[in-house]
Amino acid sequence: MENFSSDKITLDTIGSGENIVSQLPNAIAENIWGECLQIFRGRVNSQSYKAWFEPIIPIQFENGNFTIQIPSQFFQDWLEEHHYSLLIEAITHVVGTNVELSYIVKPEERESIPYSQDDHFSVQVSTQTDGLAENRNANTGQPKSELTPRNTQRTISHFLNPRYTFENYIKGESNQFAQAAALAVANSPGGTSFNPLVIYGGVGLGKTHLVHAIGNRVIQSGKSKKILYVSSEKFTVDFVESIQKDSVSDFSNHYRSLDILIVDDIQFFAGKEKTQDVFFHTFNTLYQSGKQIILSSDKPPKDLKGLNERLISRFQWGLTADIQPPDLETRIAILQKKCSDSRIELSHNIVEFIASNVTTNIRELEGCLISLLARASLEHRDITLQLAQDVVQSVIGNVRPYVTIQEIQSTVSEYLKVPEDLLRAKTRKQEIAIARQIAMYLAKVLTSSSLKTIGLHFGGRDHSTVIHAYQTVEDLISTDPKFKSIVKDLRTKLERAV
Ligand code: ADP
Ligand code: MG
Repeated sequence: MENFSSDKITLDTIGSGENIVSQLPNAIAENIWGECLQIFRGRVNSQSYKAWFEPIIPIQFENGNFTIQIPSQFFQDWLEEHHYSLLIEAITHVVGTNVELSYIVKPEERESIPYSQDDHFSVQVSTQTDGLAENRNANTGQPKSELTPRNTQRTISHFLNPRYTFENYIKGESNQFAQAAALAVANSPGGTSFNPLVIYGGVGLGKTHLVHAIGNRVIQSGKSKKILYVSSEKFTVDFVESIQKDSVSDFSNHYRSLDILIVDDIQFFAGKEKTQDVFFHTFNTLYQSGKQIILSSDKPPKDLKGLNERLISRFQWGLTADIQPPDLETRIAILQKKCSDSRIELSHNIVEFIASNVTTNIRELEGCLISLLARASLEHRDITLQLAQDVVQSVIGNVRPYVTIQEIQSTVSEYLKVPEDLLRAKTRKQEIAIARQIAMYLAKVLTSSSLKTIGLHFGGRDHSTVIHAYQTVEDLISTDPKFKSIVKDLRTKLERAV
């Protein structure tokens, strides 16, 4: 989810160095919770979301029991009274079967833990409302946390999710421009002409991940920069709160003191005139002093409805980069990366099956993987292709049969009595060539492999050869009824084999 509490437990921090298997339930819980947050966000208003869902930390998911950590007993009582059914409904929906919920109350002294390794990445606010103060002693430049009692301070984190990095962002044709632009900005924030950097694209395609990656890279590089990530909704809520508390100037000063401001999903500024005004002035101040602004949106700035023209024109001052839906190879690479990060081994055909069915949203792709792991752990089942089919069916509702190029080759070879290895060889003998073309055609129709991949499976042929084969077979199907019935037969055989 977009706003992360500063003390969120992550896969990286859970017992690093411990037995891998013992980490798995926690990794699954994290993943499940990420999906649940999406659901809560769509179902409750942003204040409730912030107050009652953001503070919850997923701890583990094991044997059908989901454990969450909550800040207090009062919090649990309130949650149970007002949001219990939503909680259960969301977790059950994500996991795919009934789940029991357990709570642990957060130990008291952990009321506030600065997230970052370095104090200069956090800004501390005194509860005596005397505005913002750097977490450093003004005279010595030393961190002053030891001098100031903890309970009089509250830490504002940069809200970056440490798991969203460039290292685990898979590059593909669909996102390579946006990734390269993001990397350039991360290496030289405020120092490129990419200011603001606007990343746009559809839901679940990696915008949030990429903008966090910029912030995380700056932190890794050790540069002393004040960074803040906010969703446009959080910016709006904070602004409205500051009006209510009569602290608008604190709000403005806070934003204007940043070196890097990241605002996610700016399309939600639509129609909010006052918020747009204050954002406009924040933007100008930061821009004029050479600070970096990074924005994300679901559309290119010029198509954003309900946004002030002067704001849209500023969004176009820098660089706008889009992210498109990923191709099959990228989807496979993403799943493989998620598996290896969670130290989970999945066979290639299961990965390929999920990737070829879930095509338009990387969050959904991950969702399938999570459900698969959750179902396997809950029902004590092995992860099989059958289980993967059930899960994908329940997530996207419509599964295409899983057929591999190898299966196509062996079925065609058997049916047409042509040695299988010749389908991959160079021979141009007529009956081999036509069998090869049929197999290529079926690979194109029944798998979502790219032309390049199909060509590689047929003895390293070029993608234009695959196109040619496809067209030849299409032509023959429409002119030769006998040929048509052969292809139809083969297709039925392959689809039935699933
Ligand atoms: P958006 O903000 O565009 O809706 P997110 O950044 O939230 O999408 O991405 C959804 C999920 O997909 C996240 O868990 C993210 O880590 C993952 N994801 C998206 N793109 C990639 C990628 N290229 N490589 C690895 N994971 C990705
Ligand atoms: Mg997002």
